[in-house]
Amino acid sequence: MKKKLGLVYGGKSAEHEVSLSTARAAAQAINFDTYEVMPIYITPEGEWRTGTSLTAPVDTIEELRLDGQGSSEPDSIAQFLQLENKPDVILPLLHGTNGEDGTVQGLFEVMNIPYAGNGVLASSAGMDKVVMKQLFAQVGLAQVPYVHFIRSEWEKEEARLLDAAEQTLQYPVFVKPANLGSSVGISKADNRESLKQAIAFALKFDRKIIVEQGVTAREIEMGVLGNDEPACSVPGEIKPVAAFYDYEAKYQDGNTELVIPAHIPVDVATHMKDMAYRAFKVLDCAGLVRADFFVTESDEVLINEVNTMPGFTPTSMFPLLWQHTGVSYPELIDRLIELAIARHAEKQ
Ligand code: ADP
Ligand code: MG
Ligand code: MG
Repeated sequence: MKKKLGLVYGGKSAEHEVSLSTARAAAQAINFDTYEVMPIYITPEGEWRTGTSLTAPVDTIEELRLDGQGSSEPDSIAQFLQLENKPDVILPLLHGTNGEDGTVQGLFEVMNIPYAGNGVLASSAGMDKVVMKQLFAQVGLAQVPYVHFIRSEWEKEEARLLDAAEQTLQYPVFVKPANLGSSVGISKADNRESLKQAIAFALKFDRKIIVEQGVTAREIEMGVLGNDEPACSVPGEIKPVAAFYDYEAKYQDGNTELVIPAHIPVDVATHMKDMAYRAFKVLDCAGLVRADFFVTESDEVLINEVNTMPGFTPTSMFPLLWQHTGVSYPELIDRLIELAIARHAEKQ
């Protein structure tokens, strides 16, 4: 009997379109001899739609939008919860808010359906850059200095917060919404005036802001795969063409160069592996994580972040890292599903 695999994609986040590209790639790589694929599409408005099961790979992203298929009633999430035809396992291919922040993972927990990737705790802690950094500090992972605050504090004490940022950090600094990904809402500031603008911009996306010390460094990433005893991939370097690795460089501009494996000394790679492993452990991750580092000119390794649902198209860093480590894209998908089932069985 084929396993029913719920493919969840789209979502009410800035990364909706990215998720659709990932879903198409996944739906092309899934082994249709093993799985019957139930498409579960979340519209940008947050409406859940399910359509007829896929029995063969889809060609276009349009097919995945499920227009006119299945239910598009506002209560379709309620119908989803009562699905008679529940999936045996879910592959959530969502990024950002309501996708990789633990909320949808909580829904799958409540439904008692195994799902691939990180659980509620790791997802939500990994989505909040402030909480993530505080946990990293707890296990002694080196990272850039930063300050953080919430909107209401900014509204009351703008001058004091600017002074505090300038005392702790040196320009240039990076201003980020605490709870987003794909570089959305992030900007670099070189002086107090641009810092104020960058904060106002970031506050459009989130009520919590982090201001980080800017570093001049190479950006090197490592994939971690597994549950209790995860393995690390080879390291990979991103060589951006833009001023920094922004949304366009990541998803629209084919010129971003990925160097896999990254050319770094063996001891630096070993240290990075240890840091990636510790980051995985302190967030209590499961399934997968991509750990992103800055490597300075003097080979100092700083952890930037982990992504609990990293970009997952076949040309994204995470799948390419694993391909170079000996795990192909279809094998990676199989592995994540197996890990999901194993983790769920352990909880019972
Ligand atoms: P996201 O979760 O959106 O990917 P990141 O924190 O990784 O956010 O920031 C996006 C990009 O911005 C990084 O890949 C890097 O190019 C640049 N960047 C972020 N923080 C810093 C920093 N402190 N110093 C230098 N560059 C940074
Ligand atoms: Mg991120
Ligand atoms: Mg990043």
